[in-house]
Amino acid sequence: MTRIYSPFIVAKFGGTSVANFDAMNRSASIVLADHDVRLVVLSASAGVTNLLVELSEGLEIHQQLDKLETLRTIQYNIISHLKQPSVIRKEIDNLLDNISRLAQSANVSPSDALSDELVSHGELMSSLLFTEVLRERHAEAGWFDARAVMRTNSNYGCAAPDLSALHQLAQSHLRPRLEHAIMVTQGFIGRDVSGHTTTLGRGGSDYTASLLGEALDAARVDIWTDVAGIYTTDPRIAPKAKRIDHISFSEASDMAAYGAKVLHPATLLPAMRKGIPVFVGSSKDTAAGGTLVHNTTDNSPRYRALAVRRKQTLLRLHSLETQPSSAFLAQIFAILARHAVSADLVTTSENCIALALDPTLATSGEDHTLTTALFTTLSSHCRVEVETGLALITLIGNQLTQAAGVCKDAFTWFEEHAVRMICHGASDNTLCILLPADTADSAIKALHYRLFE
Ligand code: ADP
Ligand code: ASP
Ligand code: MG
Repeated sequence: MTRIYSPFIVAKFGGTSVANFDAMNRSASIVLADHDVRLVVLSASAGVTNLLVELSEGLEIHQQLDKLETLRTIQYNIISHLKQPSVIRKEIDNLLDNISRLAQSANVSPSDALSDELVSHGELMSSLLFTEVLRERHAEAGWFDARAVMRTNSNYGCAAPDLSALHQLAQSHLRPRLEHAIMVTQGFIGRDVSGHTTTLGRGGSDYTASLLGEALDAARVDIWTDVAGIYTTDPRIAPKAKRIDHISFSEASDMAAYGAKVLHPATLLPAMRKGIPVFVGSSKDTAAGGTLVHNTTDNSPRYRALAVRRKQTLLRLHSLETQPSSAFLAQIFAILARHAVSADLVTTSENCIALALDPTLATSGEDHTLTTALFTTLSSHCRVEVETGLALITLIGNQLTQAAGVCKDAFTWFEEHAVRMICHGASDNTLCILLPADTADSAIKALHYRLFE
């Protein structure tokens, strides 16, 4: 009998939640425990995307063979626990053969398009295996190629979704299937209009889950990961970090945007547009509960969380002429716009502009925003000073610019740190501090102790 599932839940499982057979089995139990879970979005098994990225960069043959062997071992370990491994082994072998062929091409002529094609195989393999795990547990489960609905532009490595095409395709190709089976699909990957595979940027499976949730009017998006929710800071840095049970979209979105890796930075935007609550919990320990991100206004504390982004670059641009600072600012921002670079932190003095650049904000898919072309153009207009190896610590809170004592609370803890740049005032909810990356963890620990423990 056909059942009409509305509303339904999208469940996304990250790399550690599908790392091996036991993890997949635990995640399958989560799916099967709730009849409302109709769509499952998966990351590649832990470590797989990194191996594929290395292969896409063009490796010598012996290194390629090493990586391929490691990939094969991860997949075969999962297959070896299946009751009927033969069907799926053939499909996985085909994908492993593809990977090998693409890795050889990447060695000869690497390209961004080829890299996305290769890297997509991680999610293709994990989703095939997980579908089989569900079927062996007697679930009505179907595999779905996310590229059939996730239409993106051709910005390989960091593609942007075409929301109206996605909405239309998902409603016509995916929605009807949810009524007959639990559909398992891939996070992170998409397809451009020419039919080439694209990816949404590292960690992009969270984004896929909320994009599909938005397109299909889901009642909730569940993000299952290796921590039991969103904490006051990364618990790996400050073990006394506390779980936040309820948090507003805007606070959690600021946390993600400023580096809280637990969510891809764009994840909450689709959910926010439709008011779809997002739950974050641990697939290893469902009893531990988690965090609900939703439309809440109650109880927003002055200090909410600390986030960190590493690999930051500071550019100091010194004007060569005596010209009004407004003309110099206009000139520099026009250059940045032409190179599609957005600086998220800016401070200025009479004849100097300081900018912090973040590689994760690169729209080009390149690992770094400061390309040679940008550096050359900037150098012809001003003296450019570049400092790499920095980290950006952000204090996320509420009404930070209105409250007395915020700077005293934040800065007394930086007496041993060389602060390169401070941004406060543009947003009521963030206070940003740029400092050498090797001192970031100790700064977070100290600040967390002062503000949250
Ligand atoms: P997944 O593979 O499931 O997507 P990620 O590694 O991308 O998982 O994200 C989970 C990790 O995010 C955690 O292991 C934790 O170290 C890190 N993290 C960073 N900031 C936070 C935070 N504020 N709260 C919880 N986890 C955080
Ligand atoms: N597998 C991809 C990555 O490692 C996407 C994801 O995990 O969300 O970046
Ligand atoms: Mg992630």
